Amino acid sequence: MNESKLTTGYSQEISREAFRRLRRTRMTEKLRSLVRETELSSNDFILPLFVIRGNKLRKEVGSMPGVFQLSIDELIRECTEAVETGISAVILFGIPEFKDEVGSGAYNENGIIQTAVRALKKEIPELIVITDVCLCEYTSHGHCGVIQGNEIVNDASIELLAKEALTHAQAGADIIAPSDMFDGRVKAIRNILDANKYLNIPIMSYSAKYASGFYGPFRDAAESTPKFGDRRSHQMDPANSNEALREVEQDIIEGADIVMIKPALPYLDIIRRVKDRFQMPTAAYNVSGEYSMIKAAGRNGWIDEPRVMMEVLTSIKRAGADMILTYFAKEAVKLLKNK
Ligand SMILES: [Zn+2]
Repeated sequence: MNESKLTTGYSQEISREAFRRLRRTRMTEKLRSLVRETELSSNDFILPLFVIRGNKLRKEVGSMPGVFQLSIDELIRECTEAVETGISAVILFGIPEFKDEVGSGAYNENGIIQTAVRALKKEIPELIVITDVCLCEYTSHGHCGVIQGNEIVNDASIELLAKEALTHAQAGADIIAPSDMFDGRVKAIRNILDANKYLNIPIMSYSAKYASGFYGPFRDAAESTPKFGDRRSHQMDPANSNEALREVEQDIIEGADIVMIKPALPYLDIIRRVKDRFQMPTAAYNVSGEYSMIKAAGRNGWIDEPRVMMEVLTSIKRAGADMILTYFAKEAVKLLKNK
């Protein structure tokens, strides 16, 4: 059937009935699922996890019910359970024992993340282990890079981030995910990985990361609140959308394999623009504040928590995300299974 016939048929029906009965395909659950455009699956989710030193430690994050700082033995237990649930990927954030001015714990081959990755890849080789690459959890001042005077300097910082990425690859990470938002970091990381024969390790770049109030609970979890100032000199202004496209384009040119938008829910328009423009594998980070709001309202009985969770996750996928980093991953997959 050609397009002109389709158009004719459509208008004839409208003129016969005076309006179109769009409700026909909504009358039963069977019909609704037949015409459903967006469906979540366990392959859509990446579970963020926080790793600490020690043994048998499982410390709940006050502002994020159900989210824990885990020692490596507990991390393995958590990941085993996640894999059994049907989750195929996790992203790790490290909390080091000691912090210093230059975040040396981030690029130490025996650092918390490097040790955790080695242990995980040994115990659960099939699990995709993504590592977050940044310095803010490791610096005494809590900033994402090196400080000189009052400035968070770009070029010295990306050298350290590249070193950090290399140690993650050497430990066995499957995907490297730089989250700092400095200029040129993707290129610096791609160069060092390639020079060391890690040609096949993809980079998932936090490409459009906004300076957002929604990160508050994460900073409790990762103990990475800046001691002074904020991150507005490198993270994006929430008011900007064209700039996000420039950021994403730059990361693709520098070698990013997957681009990310963060946060997700207040930036669904950005996810859609990025997907439409670049057609790249696109990730969205359903961040801590988005999680905590739903948890808090759910606990108060103000919303139907599982329903709102699924609605939000569906909206992120519908906007164009191929994968969603979310603290809800396990709950969502369990719910999908029992549907
Ligand atoms: Zn950072």
